[in-house]
Amino acid sequence: MVMSPPTAFHMMTKPRGAICNLDCQYCYFLSKEKLYPDSKFRMSDNLLQAYTQQYIEAQRAPEITFAWQGGEPTLMGLDFFRQAVSYQQQYRKRGQHISNALQTNGVTLDDEWCEFFHANNFLVGISLDGPRPLHDAYRVDKGGQPTFDRVMNGLRLLQKHGIEFNVLTTVHAANEQHGLDVYHFLRDEVGANVLQFIPIVERDNATGYQEGSTVTARSVSADGYGRFLVEIFEEWIRRDVGRVYVQMFDIALAAWVGDSPGLCVFEETCGTALALEHNGDVYSCDHFVEPRHFVGNLVDIPLSEIVVSNQQRQFGLAKRDTLPRFCRECDVRFVCNGGCPKDRFINTPDGEAGLNYLCVGYKGFFNHVREAMNIMARELSAQRPPANVMRYMAQKDTALKSTFASAGRNDLCPCGSGLKFKKCHGRRNA
Ligand code: SF4
Ligand code: SF4
Repeated sequence: MVMSPPTAFHMMTKPRGAICNLDCQYCYFLSKEKLYPDSKFRMSDNLLQAYTQQYIEAQRAPEITFAWQGGEPTLMGLDFFRQAVSYQQQYRKRGQHISNALQTNGVTLDDEWCEFFHANNFLVGISLDGPRPLHDAYRVDKGGQPTFDRVMNGLRLLQKHGIEFNVLTTVHAANEQHGLDVYHFLRDEVGANVLQFIPIVERDNATGYQEGSTVTARSVSADGYGRFLVEIFEEWIRRDVGRVYVQMFDIALAAWVGDSPGLCVFEETCGTALALEHNGDVYSCDHFVEPRHFVGNLVDIPLSEIVVSNQQRQFGLAKRDTLPRFCRECDVRFVCNGGCPKDRFINTPDGEAGLNYLCVGYKGFFNHVREAMNIMARELSAQRPPANVMRYMAQKDTALKSTFASAGRNDLCPCGSGLKFKKCHGRRNA
């Protein structure tokens, strides 16, 4: 039976492979350089043309996004991207809308790049891990030098040119206890209003592949990731709903209203977000660029066949089919779906393999936001703005404040902890 391609699929395109001008210590991609020992790591013009044509041909949705990533994609130089846009126009079919998203560390950006982004409506993702000391903890250059100033310079240029951008912040051992500081910095000092908080879960092994069950000291802790998100959520739900977009909160709300989460990590199955290396090699996913997940080279096999290949379908279905019972019976499965398979390397409490390393954090976060999500979902279904939840939170806070004010030292604490007030929120300085 000939399978038709999925309505839409994504391709993380790495025109310079793993080559980067920085040396971020937690980067999962730098080690992929070893896969191509003799390569110059530059996508050729012929391949760019073939890829553009095939990618557009294989899509059945009218919206098509080219996603450029690395390594550092800007190291290809501007002419490469000018040519990319030109091929996109050449192969675009009637009724199709093509956009471009580029993820960068921001260091190489200058006025010329920004003028190009602006003229071609590129959406730019910029990597920034928080205020200077938190950002510089792991995001260093090839000489081990900090990069904060250079990244901020790139970011200010994007702002100066009015480029649509979002900030990608990784959450790791150095910033996991500073959720609110990171959020305040990004919102108030940077002026960003589209934010992603991506957990660093870095397996400790020599291959750089998804194997082994210990993580590096740089990795975020599971409960630390949950607390980081909760801390930010508590601020966001009171002040910023409808004003600041935090990917994880959008995902949760989508699940609460019964929509698709819009991010493969929380979908029931995956397999529609592949990775393209500089030489045309296609892998099942950006996080599985390793020999056993090589699906084909688009010079030999058309992309439209690669995406529907049995290997790729099995990869995507395994996300659902290998879910342990603990997840299948979990009360937040509808939003979590067990998370990304790359992070499923611990055992469930009853000893079954395949539980997500971040489970404790996910469970804690999704349960914490339940009440607010229910309110926002209710508002949405009544065709009212979900931002109304902020009014509810303000009323709740006022009521709680007066309960605290009237609590006696030996009463049970109004927060519901079960402790005496004097041992909980009634403690001096609590
Ligand atoms: S393996 Fe993880 S990151 Fe890759 S497509 Fe599946 S869910 Fe997404
Ligand atoms: S919260 Fe934990 S148990 Fe529940 S679905 Fe997610 S990973 Fe599985």
